[in-house]
Amino acid sequence: MTENSTIKAQMRQLIQILAKHNHAYYVMDQPSIEDSEYDQLFHQLKALEQQYPEYVQADTPTSKVGGKALTKFASVTHAVPMLSLGNVFNQEELFAFARRIEERLPNQKIQYDVELKFDGLAISLWYENGVLVRGVTRGDGETGEDITHNVKTIRNLPKVLSSAQAQVPTLLEVRGEVLIPKAGFEKLNAENEAKGEKTFANPRNAAAGSLRQLDPNVAASRPLAFYAYGIAQCEPPHGQTTMYASLEWLTQFGFTIGESHFICDTIQDVQKAYEKINAERADLSVEIDGLVIKVDDLKQQRQLGFLSREPRWATAYKFPAVAALTTVENIDWQVGRTGTLTPVARLNPVAVGGVTVSNVTLHNIGEIHRLDVRIGDTVSVYRSGDVIPKVEKVWPEFRPDEAVEVHLPEQCPVCDSPVVMPEGEALARCSGGLYCAAQRIEAIRHFVSRKAMDIEGLGDRWVECLLHLDLLKNVADIYCLHEHREQLLSIDKMGEKSVQNLFDAIENSKKTTLASFIYALGIRGVGETTARMLANTFQTFEALQNADIEALKKTPDVGDITAEWIVDFFQAPHNLEVVKRLLEAGIHWDAPVAPTRQPLNGESWVVTGTLSSMGRDEATQLLQALGARVSGSVSSKTKCVVAGEKAGSKLDKAEKLGIPVLNEEQFIALMKEHGQIED
Ligand code: NAD
Repeated sequence: MTENSTIKAQMRQLIQILAKHNHAYYVMDQPSIEDSEYDQLFHQLKALEQQYPEYVQADTPTSKVGGKALTKFASVTHAVPMLSLGNVFNQEELFAFARRIEERLPNQKIQYDVELKFDGLAISLWYENGVLVRGVTRGDGETGEDITHNVKTIRNLPKVLSSAQAQVPTLLEVRGEVLIPKAGFEKLNAENEAKGEKTFANPRNAAAGSLRQLDPNVAASRPLAFYAYGIAQCEPPHGQTTMYASLEWLTQFGFTIGESHFICDTIQDVQKAYEKINAERADLSVEIDGLVIKVDDLKQQRQLGFLSREPRWATAYKFPAVAALTTVENIDWQVGRTGTLTPVARLNPVAVGGVTVSNVTLHNIGEIHRLDVRIGDTVSVYRSGDVIPKVEKVWPEFRPDEAVEVHLPEQCPVCDSPVVMPEGEALARCSGGLYCAAQRIEAIRHFVSRKAMDIEGLGDRWVECLLHLDLLKNVADIYCLHEHREQLLSIDKMGEKSVQNLFDAIENSKKTTLASFIYALGIRGVGETTARMLANTFQTFEALQNADIEALKKTPDVGDITAEWIVDFFQAPHNLEVVKRLLEAGIHWDAPVAPTRQPLNGESWVVTGTLSSMGRDEATQLLQALGARVSGSVSSKTKCVVAGEKAGSKLDKAEKLGIPVLNEEQFIALMKEHGQIED
């Protein structure tokens, strides 16, 4: 293929993909990709069109607005076209938007009106002599659908205009967005779920689906709300000179506008406003997907005018993408502390969820097969809030011929030992044990980590140097490092002071707790909580070391498999040797709280709702360690209820029965008081 035909083919492919998703979004109200993914493809097409204007195709969506009107409604031609908005996604693009405006309006003071960008359905409302006569969707911008019958059911929208201060216009066309505020949306979905009916993916779909129904009873039953953001026509003229003032003017007639709406004197202030609203958006009553930045002065707006699809005087400033497309450059296998092989996709770096992502775990070979992801593929990476980024889907339409399938390696990529994957297990492992450098380095990192032996000075740089010098073959060697003072001092940039700091940190770590020591050993399946349970149950290290499977299973957190792993650990001569050396080096602890002093002994507790700092299982284990029985239901025998977010009927019942309730903060304070959680 020639370069020209490749570019044309790329454009055609993007146009077809965008057309498919436009139909799903605008006509069916059922998008199948995230808006940010759509925006990215749209921008790819736009960039190609800018670079190769000679190939721009007639049916490109970049010069059109929205979707086609549905024929089931009468169509209405808009007197003033309903346009879309251009987009900016970062500070650089925002400042470029401002520069373009300044160039067109030299030496003029420009103020910006900053509004919420509602994520709903755009409509236009006609009032004649103060009476609502027509409601129309945006459609393709020129022609929309007449949905007056549904619009009249929207409760916060004035059907007749009146105002104590302002004269009612003879003709008023108001533009705005219909959506379902968050609270109403949650309630609607909960009700639908209870009735066994379908739930909506987001408030926008719910609003659009409700408005584009023939039966107005459907719209009337949905908690729709209208938010005004502009005036298309007004006779006689309203007399306001700025965007901000014209929206305030509308509120006199009972129109609702966004709960945050302000003026910025500079584009830098706009950026600050954006950061503030982005940080606080969870507290807003409505779903928004960004801000809309408009030149405030209406005269300046007229001077700036329009492009085919959007005004020059406004832009959407979208919030960071929650999903973005990128390509898989490679898939590496990482070997973890316990020998687990994890595939990691190396990505072409991409901004998603406000951070740049270049590596994403693919978890295991099963996930690779499920996604059918290959090296060279285009994938969507998803990240919302603090959630770890993940590969959400593969785009087979963009798969290059040379894409490479991925198989589980037969040998460990670090030590060449055979890789094993027992039947029925999802994870593959290196069979090299402590022979494998990856397992050794991870075992050391784990051992020195804060919740284990807490040797702060022994960071990755030290560990790597020490492994390199062959001074650390296993964790017990840490306590012999003082014998190698001279060798340590010879390491580049390691002065007397840092070596002494390291020795001090190692010395200080010798006084620990039994739980931390058990955790530090890195026994498979023994995390922080299990280590604490084992310490409480067995009281001494010797008792744990000699425990059989049956005895171990009596520990609240320990099932068959973990019990076996613990026994295996203490049967391996190498491990026994390491433990012996560690104890000989002087690691010691105070005896843990004896179970006989379990302060909640015999009490019945209930944990309900979502706790932000731990799972319900972990909370249960903490309570069990203090002797409580944790039950699934509240009764008059319940001593206390721990209630997290969204606690439902159990909390209601506890309150009815007058049973004490602890919130998460109080629960954590109690656990700290009893030494279950470290301060
Ligand atoms: P847009 O949503 O990016 O912006 C324009 C619209 O913003 C206006 O028409 C208006 O209705 C609305 N808006 C909200 N608050 C406003 C305010 N305060 N002032 C002015 N306008 C305000 O553009 P669009 O043309 O409506 O839709 C394109 C967008 O829709 C895409 O960027 C994409 O995010 C989404 N989309 C998604 C899919 C998908 O499959 N997920 C498909 C098509 C479109």
